[in-house]
Amino acid sequence: MNNLLIKESKLYRPTWAEINLSAIDYNLKLVKKIVGPRVKVLAVVKSDAYGHGMLRVAHRIVKEIDFLGVASIDEAVCLRKSGIKKPLLIFESTFASHTKAIIDYDITPTVCSLDLVRSLNTNATKCKKKINVHIKVDTGMGRLGIWHEHALDFIKKIRAFSYLNIEGLYTHLPCADTDRKFTLNQISKFKELINKLRQGKIHIPLCHIANSMGIIGYKESHLNMVRPGLMLYGLYPKNSLISKVKLKSALSLKSRIIFVKKIPKGRTISYGATFTTLKTTVIATIPVGYNDGYLRSLSNKSEVIIDGERYKVAGRICMDQLMVNLGDSEFKVGKVVTLLGTNKNMTISAEELSRLAKTIPYEIVCAIGNSVPRFYKT
Ligand SMILES: *Cc1c(COP(=O)(O)O)cnc(C)c1O
Repeated sequence: MNNLLIKESKLYRPTWAEINLSAIDYNLKLVKKIVGPRVKVLAVVKSDAYGHGMLRVAHRIVKEIDFLGVASIDEAVCLRKSGIKKPLLIFESTFASHTKAIIDYDITPTVCSLDLVRSLNTNATKCKKKINVHIKVDTGMGRLGIWHEHALDFIKKIRAFSYLNIEGLYTHLPCADTDRKFTLNQISKFKELINKLRQGKIHIPLCHIANSMGIIGYKESHLNMVRPGLMLYGLYPKNSLISKVKLKSALSLKSRIIFVKKIPKGRTISYGATFTTLKTTVIATIPVGYNDGYLRSLSNKSEVIIDGERYKVAGRICMDQLMVNLGDSEFKVGKVVTLLGTNKNMTISAEELSRLAKTIPYEIVCAIGNSVPRFYKT
């Protein structure tokens, strides 16, 4: 299907996401206030900016940040083609066979294997273009990266490749929200490595550790660049931070009632008949389902807001629809329903939904898929 058709197919869909770009501006300002003027900011816009729309978010904040962070070459190419000139770091390791694109589009790769380094250097030499790379060190994440004890040797080897410039060195924190000791140990391992490099007269300009949790919870992790993702979108990596830092959430998910009916006592609602009416009950149908990222695990648990009041989801969430128990209230077809966000001083947060679905706020917003059109408040 071409883009035009996809767009047209959303024309009549009464479900949408609203993204408040000034909330993202505000959260970015807060990041800068926390880390201070000497620390650079790499804004993470992977996964379509956590469901907020990568291009809109990137263009909105690009003047205020130093780097953008994405997961894949494709995301970086998309940003370049849209006119973004700032440095772009990709977090994934890339196949040696894809290094030409990295050079052509002036992307900064993460390196943690010699195969990749060789291929990058070969292509960079052919293009006569020196390229910046960031080396990923594993201090406990157990994902990408050279283990910290082998990092010094690896860095020394890379320095021999004449078309590569080691611009950055970084590591990632897997337990910053749950395990302080583990995290502090990671930070000190990383700093030990920097010290060893210094003793060997090796200077790497950018050293970075901190994701959102590092920024808020670990001043010692700021070094000279930070990598905020979640907090830019106004979400919290840990619930207890809500009282500590005031972020503004940027995304709301809204829809409209498409059908209302009075259901007598003793009838069941939706697949699996998991909800039974205990008395005559007004039930509304809303055209939102797990295809839109409204997780099925929220069935019979989550609430929605109509006119500032909360109403509970009744029965299983379907692929494209869900039912809401209105009790005795009767709302008309077309009435706006807020599934995530604020309506008349009542708020349903991504944190609330994540708690009910036994997941994390990251998944709640990333899941809101392409079936949902986005509208931007500037
Ligand atoms: C996603 C990601 C981040 C951002 O993490 P948040 O918790 O969303 O702030 C930072 N660094 C790396 C390597 C990432 O993959």
